[in-house]
Amino acid sequence: MGILALTQNQTSIEPVRPGASARKAKAAVFDFDGTISVIRSGWIDVMTPMMADVLLSLKSGESEEDLLTLIREMVWRTTGKETIYQMMDFATMVTERGGTPLDPREYKKMYLDRLWVKIVDRIEDLKQQRVAPAYYMVPGALQLIESLKERGLKMYLASGTDEIFMREEARLLGVTPFFDGGVYGAQDDLSSFSKKILIQRIISTTGVRGDEIVGFGDGYVEIEEVKLVGGVTVGVASQEPACQSVDEWKRQRLIGVGADYIVPNFLEHERLVDLLFSA
Ligand SMILES: [Mg+2]
Repeated sequence: MGILALTQNQTSIEPVRPGASARKAKAAVFDFDGTISVIRSGWIDVMTPMMADVLLSLKSGESEEDLLTLIREMVWRTTGKETIYQMMDFATMVTERGGTPLDPREYKKMYLDRLWVKIVDRIEDLKQQRVAPAYYMVPGALQLIESLKERGLKMYLASGTDEIFMREEARLLGVTPFFDGGVYGAQDDLSSFSKKILIQRIISTTGVRGDEIVGFGDGYVEIEEVKLVGGVTVGVASQEPACQSVDEWKRQRLIGVGADYIVPNFLEHERLVDLLFSA
């Protein structure tokens, strides 16, 4: 900490591909957790130790540190996808070490039960209006959403969190009315929704082209899917929950998957909109 840490913290917009323009964008796709909401901040610190405990019990000879590194990489590659995919990949890791995995749905339930303990007070804070919604939001997110809506973009909110939960959390944060394209979360039937399906649906049903989509997210999946169709992306590499500085681990991975801009938060939303739309 101290001066060194402060000088290393990046607090502003990093143009990874300077000039990447969303000038023609007609639709914006937002991820929810870690991009708009920090209600579930810390989820990874619930998920990865749970997985490490199970793998350690299989006595494969790998150290806890090695296992955590493998788990973090696996979790990263599926971040933004529905939670069940992380549990399916985890079940494979159990099998690979000679274990007999539980049904991935069981692992998902274990994880959500543990996460709930961590977040229930936050949800109550919002329900009882003990804090303003901004307290559990990535700073500047609301202002950015307002400004994109004012520009006439069709707004879509898409999450890998179960829809029943994320709809309620979006409502509590007051962002639902901005998303005129819809609010979408994970369904039990995996074939009925994914970020890929949503993007394909936008292209096939609204006449918006892939390169007319701008995507905002902190996960691998949403950045990859928007890049695949030729869109422009802003990666949120935030050190949660404060969201004041860039998380270098996330930054490198978001750049690796093709993010055009990296931000620690949206406090510079006016400049970000300038960069995206005036070029
Ligand atoms: Mg996210």
